[in-house]
Amino acid sequence: MEIKRKYTDEPGADKGAIHLMINRWCGNSCPLCCNRQYDLETVPVATVEDLKAAHTVMLTGGDPFYVESLMDILAQLRYDYHNIEYVYIYTSGFPMLENVDILRYPEQFFSGVNGINFSPKSISDYAAIREMLSNPQYIFQCSAYLRNNRIILMPNDFMTRKQQEEYIKSLPLEGLASYGAKFDVEYREWQEEFQPNGGVWRRLPVFL
Ligand code: SF4
Repeated sequence: MEIKRKYTDEPGADKGAIHLMINRWCGNSCPLCCNRQYDLETVPVATVEDLKAAHTVMLTGGDPFYVESLMDILAQLRYDYHNIEYVYIYTSGFPMLENVDILRYPEQFFSGVNGINFSPKSISDYAAIREMLSNPQYIFQCSAYLRNNRIILMPNDFMTRKQQEEYIKSLPLEGLASYGAKFDVEYREWQEEFQPNGGVWRRLPVFL
């Protein structure tokens, strides 16, 4: 039987920066996904005290954009916890494009979100990110709300690093920056023994 690691907060981790896991499903199956490495039952459930002490919440999963109630979760976080200064959402890309509520209710969706952390894993994810960032409706959302974004690129078996760099050059990031939406780009390696990098992980009592 596969033995998974138990999650514990890293020594000195900033407990005000919470990676809040709300679901498990993402549609991809990356072999070194951190969710496969840890026993997710050992990730502590977020308490009211945790959220009252948070300055930043990063919604993660799975892919949060597959959660039908994501818009309600965002609204409630902002309504109940005025102490939370920044809210970010992690996505691989394709699930965000697939979420029809975003373009139906764009202001409600993004008015409380400071940025998106895109981390494409499949060809569909790469295509979805390019499609979104070239769509005037998303450009408007980025410039109005999603001002601090990140694109995190991991090695894969369908693109070389050079092709990833060309992909990044093909995105309209400079144009978006001129509207006030910043996109930091990071190239990361997969970790055989994933270590949370700053902040702490918390989860909902049930995954959505
Ligand atoms: S896309 Fe992210 S959450 Fe999904 S399997 Fe890959 S690393 Fe894990």
